[in-house]
Amino acid sequence: MQDFDLVVIGAGIVGTASALWAQKRGLKVLLCDPNPPGSGTSFGNACTLATYAVMPVNSPAVLRALPRLLLRGDSPLSVDLMHALRHPRWMLSFLANCRPARSEYIARQLADLMGHADAGLNPLIAEAGAEDLIVNRGQLTVWSTKAGAEGDKQGLSFRKALGIPFDVLGPQETRALEPGLNLPIHAAVHYHAARSVRDPQELINRMHRRFLALGGQWRQARVSEIRAHATGVEVAVGDTRMDAGRAVIAAGAHAGSIKGSGAENLPLGTERGYHLIFSQDGHRITRPVGWAEGGFYAVPMAQGLRLAGTVEIARLSAPENQGRLDYIARKGAAMLGALPAPDSHWLGFRPTLPDSMPVIGYAPHSDRIIHAFGHQHVGLTLGGITGRIVADLAEGRLPNMSIAAFASNRRFV
Ligand SMILES: Cc1cc2nc3c(=O)[nH]c(=O)nc-3n(C[C@H](O)[C@H](O)[C@H](O)COP(=O)(O)OP(=O)(O)OC[C@H]3O[C@@H](n4cnc5c(N)ncnc54)[C@H](O)[C@@H]3O)c2cc1C
Repeated sequence: MQDFDLVVIGAGIVGTASALWAQKRGLKVLLCDPNPPGSGTSFGNACTLATYAVMPVNSPAVLRALPRLLLRGDSPLSVDLMHALRHPRWMLSFLANCRPARSEYIARQLADLMGHADAGLNPLIAEAGAEDLIVNRGQLTVWSTKAGAEGDKQGLSFRKALGIPFDVLGPQETRALEPGLNLPIHAAVHYHAARSVRDPQELINRMHRRFLALGGQWRQARVSEIRAHATGVEVAVGDTRMDAGRAVIAAGAHAGSIKGSGAENLPLGTERGYHLIFSQDGHRITRPVGWAEGGFYAVPMAQGLRLAGTVEIARLSAPENQGRLDYIARKGAAMLGALPAPDSHWLGFRPTLPDSMPVIGYAPHSDRIIHAFGHQHVGLTLGGITGRIVADLAEGRLPNMSIAAFASNRRFV
């Protein structure tokens, strides 16, 4: 007799969406996390349901710009060289995936999944009574230089070919849309169909509450190990052992620390990102605005103005990098005009495989373990659809789309 049909490990957007989808389907589900729901990477992101964001960070443009990005003091990308030298597999694979053919292949796979993103998330928003948290004002991407805009031209053409809707705007139209922008504007794109979330953690909290209301169970405890056997799994939750039909690994960038999960063997890395909050400045803009050359978003949200982004390749346990926070503060002032001292700051860990695709599917060593992690820059957007796929797999049936590209045992190149 098993305690649960499904144990979900990790209560970020991916785990909570998986738990709610599975509970909605009538499975008996336990969700575990040592931390409160939505308090990991899902807490501090740029709040955007970025259905347009199908181009991976791995791209020929990034490869071309890499030396400049690495050598420039004032860069949105920073790499801890010692970390890179200690993890050559991830770095070399990441670079190999920047080749045009690979980058295009990855973008197509992400676009296929992205095409289902709203269908995966909207039912959970409705289920959780969280429509008031969703803002329908699109997303604006701004280029302040000709070189920056030229560099991203190919990516835009690719999006157009995929049918992703956007309007190309000139400087005046952009300023009319967002008069609070203070930076030079060369060009901009408005992804008018994109949405944002006023408060990502509140969305997850409401999903969590709905999960409990439907009979789901919650343990605030860490899972250290899983043992899979022919008919189920034994999961070490805190100091107790649970028997379940299946387990889902949705522990984001920490997935590799769970023994027996199969995630330990994967090249899961992290792209660290930061945010700053200016609680009195939410009125400066009216929608998420990404500054392409700056590598971050400015977002009006429940807590005020959030400046979120940049990529730092360093180990999970490395201390906060004050230089990264100073960079965002400095560039934020260049983007929006003088800003006060921030009210709070945050460091988070995007879970990233070197090909920038998530791992979604049964673990290679057992169909009793389901992998659902590695959503890099777009986990808030893809959490809902990942949860729906997880619920299908937990019921032992195939999802209504191909997930072969996201298999754990794919070649990462
Ligand atoms: C600066 C920044 C901006 C971003 N902006 C956006 C955006 O605008 N739009 C977008 O779609 N995405 C964005 N992202 C990406 C997005 O936030 C992530 O992809 C997403 O939050 C990952 O969700 P997750 O559930 O996999 O991980 P997490 O939210 O990190 O959740 C994992 C959970 O697992 C738990 N856990 C870890 N180990 C264990 C264990 N052993 N046992 C039990 N539980 C465990 C952790 O405590 C945590 O709660 C951004 C990320 C960053 C850093």
